[in-house]
Amino acid sequence: MDERKILLVIFDGLGDRPLTELGHKTPLESTPKPNLDWFAANGINGLVDPIAPGVVAGSDTSHLALFGYDPREVYTGRGPFEAAGVGIDLQPGDIAFRGNFASVDEDLRITDRRAGRIREGTEELAKALDGLRLGRIRVTVRAGTEHRVALVLRGRGLSPKVSDTDPHEIGAKVLDAKPLETAAKPTAKAVNAFTKQAYKVLKSHPVNRARVAKGEPPANISVLRGAGIYPDLMPITERLHLTAAGIAGVALIRGMFRTVGIDPIEVPGATGGLDTNMIAKADAALEALTTYDLVVLHVKATDLCGHDGKASEKIRVIERMDAMMGHLKSKLPSDVIVAITADHSTPVAVKDHSGDPVPLTIFGEGVRVDDVLNFDERSVAHGALGRIRGQDVMSLLLDISNRATKYGA
Ligand code: ZN
Ligand code: ZN
Repeated sequence: MDERKILLVIFDGLGDRPLTELGHKTPLESTPKPNLDWFAANGINGLVDPIAPGVVAGSDTSHLALFGYDPREVYTGRGPFEAAGVGIDLQPGDIAFRGNFASVDEDLRITDRRAGRIREGTEELAKALDGLRLGRIRVTVRAGTEHRVALVLRGRGLSPKVSDTDPHEIGAKVLDAKPLETAAKPTAKAVNAFTKQAYKVLKSHPVNRARVAKGEPPANISVLRGAGIYPDLMPITERLHLTAAGIAGVALIRGMFRTVGIDPIEVPGATGGLDTNMIAKADAALEALTTYDLVVLHVKATDLCGHDGKASEKIRVIERMDAMMGHLKSKLPSDVIVAITADHSTPVAVKDHSGDPVPLTIFGEGVRVDDVLNFDERSVAHGALGRIRGQDVMSLLLDISNRATKYGA
């Protein structure tokens, strides 16, 4: 049989719960979405528990599951994916932190946790810290969006078992990193040496002098949290014997792509925000399908609306997603299997992720089309796929695309 291509579309935080204000419908049920419904009506449908029933998934753990990994085996924290997402080339064993540029007084007491939500000059500040050497440990620093930074320690015998230096509180002193296991002593020592060095380098940096002159809080410290070791994962390309590309606006997901061996594709206008250019992303996905076996297309906007608790915004975003699916449909080559799903639910009423399962539609040549007519949480529950786990999605896609290997003789 001919192997087919796979397009996996992930709408972040799409799943929701019924809302009184929407007549006891979910935002997805309330949105006219002829194209998504067309895929459901011409595909096979079901519900997905990203990790397991009732487990509240993060975007990182759920993406690992959708890519076919067992997150309980391979997940080591969010820091490494964030660092990979801002372009740091990590190696297994590296320790990655998430961090903030913050403002401190001379006693290292926090006066502003986000340095006035600094927007400009953070790349220069990161550059001033990048490449620092703390004994035999090398520090890599990159600026993220606004006040955010990613920091990576590389050296022998490092441990992720160290406490945060971010006190998460104004007026509190920057914390000393403490070793949470004996083997983590050198790592904690290095982190504390970094804190001192960072203050020394940043306090007199031209960017901060200019900020102080303008009456703005200086970004004169970098506080760290969420240490994680870069996992030694077998790339998806080797595990599944296919080539893969991914499109995402947000750094965390691009970092996930890099970590599992999915080539991230830059798309102008893909912001990871509400203003993201979904049609441009769809075109980039179609283009990538001409050279890659698997293309992952991620859209963040639904998750943002869920966190903000805005049902009407979520509906508007779903309308735009539907238009994107219409665009894809009109140009889709016949040898492509399309899967449409979400990484988890982000219900408007919860304003955070929940453990509710998410819809899944698989469309393409050879799928056993079921009776489901609409792409929403309740309709797909009647579909032929029943209720499966995130990790099963990739197995199903390999099978229907004639890429699965035989179990047994
Ligand atoms: Zn997510
Ligand atoms: Zn979220």
